[in-house]
Amino acid sequence: MNQHLSDRVNNMATSATLAMAAKARELREAGKDIIGLSLGEPDFTVPDFVKAAAIKAIEDDYHSYTPVDGYGALKQAIITKFKRDNGLTYSPRQIVVSTGAKQTLANLAQVLLNEGDEVLLPAPYWVSYSDISKVAGGVPVEIETGIESDFKVTPQALEAAITPKTKMMIYSSPCNPSGSVYSEEELRALADVLVKYPNIIVISDEIYEHINFTGQGHASMAAFDDMYDRTVTVNGISKAYAMTGWRIGYMGGPEWIAKACTKMQGQVTSGANCIAQQATITALEASPSKIHYMVDAFRSRRALILDLLQEIPGMKTNEPEGAFYVFPDVSYYFGKTLKGMMINNASDFSLFLLEHAAVATVTGEAFGDPNCIRISYAASEADIKEALKRMKNALTT
Ligand code: PMP
Ligand code: GLU
Repeated sequence: MNQHLSDRVNNMATSATLAMAAKARELREAGKDIIGLSLGEPDFTVPDFVKAAAIKAIEDDYHSYTPVDGYGALKQAIITKFKRDNGLTYSPRQIVVSTGAKQTLANLAQVLLNEGDEVLLPAPYWVSYSDISKVAGGVPVEIETGIESDFKVTPQALEAAITPKTKMMIYSSPCNPSGSVYSEEELRALADVLVKYPNIIVISDEIYEHINFTGQGHASMAAFDDMYDRTVTVNGISKAYAMTGWRIGYMGGPEWIAKACTKMQGQVTSGANCIAQQATITALEASPSKIHYMVDAFRSRRALILDLLQEIPGMKTNEPEGAFYVFPDVSYYFGKTLKGMMINNASDFSLFLLEHAAVATVTGEAFGDPNCIRISYAASEADIKEALKRMKNALTT
């Protein structure tokens, strides 16, 4: 806390995912052999056909400021993608391209929330939803779920959390951190509650859309006619195309919201990077089958990590159906002393793993679930095997 800084930033938490990744990087630079399973970052390289499009954009002399809401050609590619993959129909004025889905979410919070507006967050939720809402004046309202319900919110729990101040709900499916995937029927049941409260805007974060192991495809809230006008669909290229550092995210939603986000972005960052936008056109125009090799790898790594977790006592986990995280409940260890370290909560447990197993994970507290830790399996099989071996050794010897 620094008195010269604004209350806004003093009251904000540091992103736990990024903080843990930075800590792991620091320890690695100091010579420690840390295995990083903290960051949700695919370990693949960018597909060659996408790289080629970026190189071409440089050679074609793309260099200028871009339209604030994105190149027209990229918006067209996004419109085609939404239609092809999600059955959603948008016009160019309903699309905004941003510097990562994180900026898309921040724009939405800034343009939709007034001081004291409540934001429903089915927990566990992605770490930044809470602070992105708070910094915009919103009040996060966590809705508890639990491992028994596969960490999915029920219509009853959703309705019970709604008040006259509720303005927004944000969720991800597939979910970071739990890996849960809402089926079309489950989303419909939530929509049946939400249609009764027309003031609530739903932010559907679908950035893990392609990393879905259910075999039943992906369901979008905006595909329901009665939700279309008040749902914003958020997506990006970070996860499916292994392009986290290229920083492109986008939204499709009501025109009045898109217009407000463009206004906000125009004063804060301007349009997204020109080379990355050109590469994204090529990425999105390609058939999603071109990236299935990554999804297949995540599927077998999921099987591997779930198997290995079973060999460690006290790791209770659901079977994640999407994304690339496992979210075990580690409360079995709370109140125990391990290698002289008292484990009171998930943060202590995650720290224990860092110090005694040299494995970086993220505490579930950051995601609104204090009993769990998040382990990313967007890592090589060799790293996953070694990390789980180290964890088992640290916890059992
Ligand atoms: N939503 C979720 C659920 C995420 O896991 C992430 C992490 N990258 C983001 C949004 C932000 O993605 P981006 O890299 O596009 O900013
Ligand atoms: N979304 C990723 C994660 O949850 C990347 C880190 C971040 O953007 O916070 O690990």
